[in-house]
Amino acid sequence: MAQTFRVGLGTDLHRLVEPGPLILGNIAIPFEKHALGHSDADALIHAMIDAILGASGGGDIGQLFPDTDEANRGRDSGEMLSIVWGRVRAQGWALGNVDCVVHLQRPKLAPYIPRMVERLSELMAVPPETISIKAKTGEGIGLVGREEAVAAECVVLLVRETDSSCQ
Ligand code: MG
Repeated sequence: MAQTFRVGLGTDLHRLVEPGPLILGNIAIPFEKHALGHSDADALIHAMIDAILGASGGGDIGQLFPDTDEANRGRDSGEMLSIVWGRVRAQGWALGNVDCVVHLQRPKLAPYIPRMVERLSELMAVPPETISIKAKTGEGIGLVGREEAVAAECVVLLVRETDSSCQ
């Protein structure tokens, strides 16, 4: 009998450098630093993608969108999420829920989280109540606390929609 549920875990970290804004959850957050990376360096979405790929057995974000490919330079991570989620949906998976933690010393993310949830629910065409985003500071220590990095962790639960066996 095919599995009904699968969980996946994804994490990501990007260096913070001047100038802003900071892209997180596919929205631009006013801040004096941005996340450095080959794409738009959206750590939250990158962690979500790896969690989705982990749950579906689809490899990882680096295999799908290599940083050696010029096509991925400055790429919108929201577009990457849409592509990955479309493939996983086509394999017969639906979203149970996704729960994420973003680690960032500044700015406070609470005012931006509703827009981030709304945007991610649009990109994945899922109800906003299936997406949870929480924020933590680095307590002034470590890479996050010294405002040198933004990090994110996500867990995803996928639910089998059909009786066909998993790939
Ligand atoms: Mg990344």
